[in-house]
Amino acid sequence: MAAEADTVADDTLNGRYYAASSATTSAVAVGASLPPRSHTQTARRPVQAPSPLPATPPLITNMPSAVTCTFVGEGSANVVFSVLLANDVDDDSNGAQDGDSQAVKAVGAVKDANPKKADAGAGPLSTHLLRIPKAGPGVSPTTCLEHQAYYSSVLRPLLGADCLVGQHLIQGVVSTGVHAVLNGLLNDLDHSRRRRRDWVGTGVAANVDVALLVEDMTSACKRASSPSTTTTIQCKPKWLVQSPSAPAEARRCRTCALSAASAAPSCSSESSTTANGATNGHAGRVKSAKVHKIKPCPMVLVADPPTTPQEEAELEAALWDYICKNLGSAMSCSTSSPTPAPINASSPPVALLKARPTIIRWMRTTDLFHRMAAIQAEFDPHGALSVEVEADDGVVPSTTQATSVALDRLQTAMTLRDCTCFLRVTTGESSAATAAPVSVSAKLGDLDRKDGRRKLVRWQAQERTLLEGGYYLGTEEPRQQTHCWLERQRD
Ligand SMILES: [Zn+2]
Repeated sequence: MAAEADTVADDTLNGRYYAASSATTSAVAVGASLPPRSHTQTARRPVQAPSPLPATPPLITNMPSAVTCTFVGEGSANVVFSVLLANDVDDDSNGAQDGDSQAVKAVGAVKDANPKKADAGAGPLSTHLLRIPKAGPGVSPTTCLEHQAYYSSVLRPLLGADCLVGQHLIQGVVSTGVHAVLNGLLNDLDHSRRRRRDWVGTGVAANVDVALLVEDMTSACKRASSPSTTTTIQCKPKWLVQSPSAPAEARRCRTCALSAASAAPSCSSESSTTANGATNGHAGRVKSAKVHKIKPCPMVLVADPPTTPQEEAELEAALWDYICKNLGSAMSCSTSSPTPAPINASSPPVALLKARPTIIRWMRTTDLFHRMAAIQAEFDPHGALSVEVEADDGVVPSTTQATSVALDRLQTAMTLRDCTCFLRVTTGESSAATAAPVSVSAKLGDLDRKDGRRKLVRWQAQERTLLEGGYYLGTEEPRQQTHCWLERQRD
């Protein structure tokens, strides 16, 4: 049975999300919400520009006074931690010290015998992760407020809350001392050489007291009502339509062109750009060094329907290959072992292999990727090179209203081109008479707004590199092997 509805987490994510909102402070207005769009909307309908929305009460949780923090993962711009009430650690994060990439530090002694009752804001901590910016250019005390406002006023109306990873604000990261603990964890990882080389020495921004709590997409089994196993696979769908400035005779899509450029020995600056854009997943694992792998071609996610049995077999093989190439980031948990753990990508669990037909069927029938493609096309119809501006120190100043609107729309397209898709596959138990039930769902996360005014110059330079280097045409020397779906369709 293919299902888009998230049967495991429906009663947890949104329930806790809104329950938390009702019990928290109301210091910051962060945006608005509309009723979510149906998850079964037509794929390629025109996408309406976000319109002004009425204000709604803010959603913000207070950081409890005594918590235990665990490093979960990091990207170039953000770090993700599990933050639990100190008393909950023995019960809920018993695997926290198992993995190489994890460590635990408590902020302080628990002052109340029952901190769950003592701190009404602690509820979401068991289902959400702390996502906080690293110190860097442009990071300010309001960075997460801006992310949340963009999420609420632009992305949620555009995509619908059902297909977005839930998130809201948490305040008190600095004032409770948690900030210092988080940086201590990162420092420990530095000293034990368990961080990616180019991220060593980076830390959590000292001026960010208000951060984000994001739904933990790997922990659904903690709350499952019947025995089941959930595997969460992360992928980045990237560019689901061709770049508007790609040549008509292109043999590669934009994602594969950039993959080729990243892998090319003569393109070191491009490599750096790719690494920054491609590793922002919220539950990734520590990498020892920057690696430029050829990414799986995302165009298979929006492939035209096959017309022959041979085409059908090719498409299904390509979709499964896409899944397999993303298993390196997959985490699994079960009702008997609720702490998420990485799976062995070279030897996936049998239950996941048996779920292949359901996963493929879901990938072929979901409208999620077509909707993302439609938004990318509509919000970026002419490409970054078409936005003509004078940049000052790489930053585009406020110019005409038309340019400003074009940049706003381009940055939304670019935000969707760098988000992470969390694909959840839940398998129940089989019986003598029936096969194990399987459900598949997906949500999009890592949706920080891409600042078009800061990034336009870089986006334009990147596009010129791809065009001038022949990466769309596949004429670069030496030729890189990218297995682009477009190229496979031409051969
Ligand atoms: Zn491709």
